[in-house]
Amino acid sequence: MSSSSLAQRLKRRIEAQGPITVSEYMLACLGDREAGYYMVQEPFGAKGDFITAPEVSQMFGELIGVWCVSQWLAMGKPATFTLCEMGPGRGTLMKDLLRTAQQLSPEFIAAAHITMVETSPRLTDIQRQTLAPFKLPVTWTDDFQKLEKQPLIMVANELFDALPMRQYVKKQGRFHERVIALDENGAFIFTASNYSVDASLLPADHQSAPEGAIFEVAPARSGLMQQISDHIAQFEGSALLIDYGHLTQGYGDTLQAMLKHNFDDVFANPGAADITSHVDFFALKNIASQAGVNSATQTQGAFLLNMGLLDRAGQLGRGKSLAEQQQLQADVERLAAPDQMGNLFKVLSVSSSSIAPLPYDMPSSAVS
Ligand code: SAH
Repeated sequence: MSSSSLAQRLKRRIEAQGPITVSEYMLACLGDREAGYYMVQEPFGAKGDFITAPEVSQMFGELIGVWCVSQWLAMGKPATFTLCEMGPGRGTLMKDLLRTAQQLSPEFIAAAHITMVETSPRLTDIQRQTLAPFKLPVTWTDDFQKLEKQPLIMVANELFDALPMRQYVKKQGRFHERVIALDENGAFIFTASNYSVDASLLPADHQSAPEGAIFEVAPARSGLMQQISDHIAQFEGSALLIDYGHLTQGYGDTLQAMLKHNFDDVFANPGAADITSHVDFFALKNIASQAGVNSATQTQGAFLLNMGLLDRAGQLGRGKSLAEQQQLQADVERLAAPDQMGNLFKVLSVSSSSIAPLPYDMPSSAVS
């Protein structure tokens, strides 16, 4: 099986070269060309390992379509711009977004250079099939840096959690990189490397953090955030980044694996289980601010309610059977209820200096 052979390859690598970082482990589990999760598995939906918001309901992509058109209007309707989704999975969000935008503004569609940024050839094929009925020109690339140098409206849902991160663990008063080694039976184990981290990467209160505290740093996420912010600062635009994570900095191990809708041991099924971690929106927002672009954060629940989730559900339910209306109600709750996706998932919007990142006032009570 490919997952056990990936485990074997990782073990041989550790035997030959010494422990690997959490980041190297995540990168191999998700992106290995032969056995990486996104390269070979079918992650989404009831038969997969998890369900993302666009797969819960068409309303998610539709409301993001409304957001995209509103940002384009706020930008003064640029005659050409890139409409980008990064990490589009099955292409469901873009499908719902385009259908809504077509109804709201044919001008928006005519101006849009639709570009999908995706690293998995397998998922690219699925996205092609999903979008084919639109008969619109769509371009694929595997790197944000290859986007056209022009105004940008961008969305990414559950992309940042899949980019690798590093962990540092406090041991004898200092934070050391947390790495993966092998125990005497040849099983993966976490251990602390001898190298301590540059204190400038740690939160200001790191000296009072308890022994064993773990702090996560994600250079791959920060690097992408820098590229998005720089692009928007230079060429104008707006980006909406949605993921599970936290708005304030903190300590804790958030590395997690999901297999068939259940949490899995992170070492049990490398390549066969999805492996992610929570996104540090505090760090991402700082990068945007330093790059000179506007930024705002909100919970997914507050964002969707502000965008008109309840009205849209009401419209879709009109004249439908009781069972269909109950399904819509359940979908609304799944997406926006505080105890479901509503609070755990956050929305970070960044935009050029003249555009409000979120097109409405943000209730401060919604931000946690
Ligand atoms: N946005 C989709 C899929 C989320 S899963 C949804 O909400 O359903 C993560 C997606 O990001 C997958 O499509 C995966 O192949 C893609 N991906 C992972 N790393 C990437 C990278 N570095 N650049 C672009 N896409 C990436």
